[in-house]
Amino acid sequence: MNRREIVKLLGLGGLSFYSKFGYSKNKSNKIPIKPIVLSTWHNQSIKANPIAWQILSQNGSALDAVENGVQVCENDINNCCVGLGAYPDRDGFVTLDASIMNHQYEIGAVAALERIKSPIHTARMVMEKTPHVFIVGKGAQDFALNQGQNLESSDLSPNALNAYQNWLSKSEYQPKINIEKNQNTPPANEFNHDTIGMIAMDANGNLSGACTTSGMAFKMHGRVGDSPVIGAGLYVDNAIGAATATGHGEEVIRTCGSFLVVEYMRRGFSPEKACKLAVERIKQITPRDPKSIQVGFIALNKKGEFGAYALQKGFDFGVNTNDETKKFEALALI
Ligand code: ASP
Repeated sequence: MNRREIVKLLGLGGLSFYSKFGYSKNKSNKIPIKPIVLSTWHNQSIKANPIAWQILSQNGSALDAVENGVQVCENDINNCCVGLGAYPDRDGFVTLDASIMNHQYEIGAVAALERIKSPIHTARMVMEKTPHVFIVGKGAQDFALNQGQNLESSDLSPNALNAYQNWLSKSEYQPKINIEKNQNTPPANEFNHDTIGMIAMDANGNLSGACTTSGMAFKMHGRVGDSPVIGAGLYVDNAIGAATATGHGEEVIRTCGSFLVVEYMRRGFSPEKACKLAVERIKQITPRDPKSIQVGFIALNKKGEFGAYALQKGFDFGVNTNDETKKFEALALI
């Protein structure tokens, strides 16, 4: 069965757009598709991409686009998985992780950041204003305050409080995907709307990426996932392409996932194939039952070709090459 038949079988939309802009069919394309921005989870993309697109369409930088884009999700108090409105850890604290990378291999990241509204801005400040690349916990909070952000309330948002109280009544620590299963919300393969990872190429052909999250819901206090770990949750090589991840961060860290995707693109694989190979690596080496976890990657190369792949079905993403945010569903191994 060839790819077209598989896509037809899965009933995925957007094939013509995929054929036009993505994957190996675009190998002969000499004119890069730019600017372009894509981000994980379509329900995050529809809010975040338009802001990024506004910047890109006015010749703004990919770096400004991704920072401002993902900030939309950080600012949304109803977002379960990004920013201060998100679900807390098992001790009731919202702890945030973020990373950013530009076209010059400059990087900045924060982890376990509490009571600060924009972790991605703090990550950018780490990149631009310090000699370091990664600041965590109280030090990151102090730095954010020093850079002009406010100390926000530690109260949970109404949605988060509700979810936390439900979780406390069972008080089992399990990855979020299983918690959802226990609550009879979407089944395991309908893992949805988590971390936002965004990658973009601006009109000058420069790439940047940003990734921001509250991490896995009801995680252990102090747990850090892949999102702020450069090479795991995000990687950008301006000569090759960019990639970002969502899902079980432990598995993405184990494989240096986003770096791996970029390295596969360096070897000539299309963005989709590169993501698929990285997902296969995870499936191959994870000590867990692959059916109990989810990981999704999105990737973009210098030609403006993009692609994605997930371990399980249910991962979608949004792409803008104009005002419209188009939804795509990633193919999956399982
Ligand atoms: N990757 C994030 C983490 O492990 C969570 C997610 O994307 O759902 O912290």
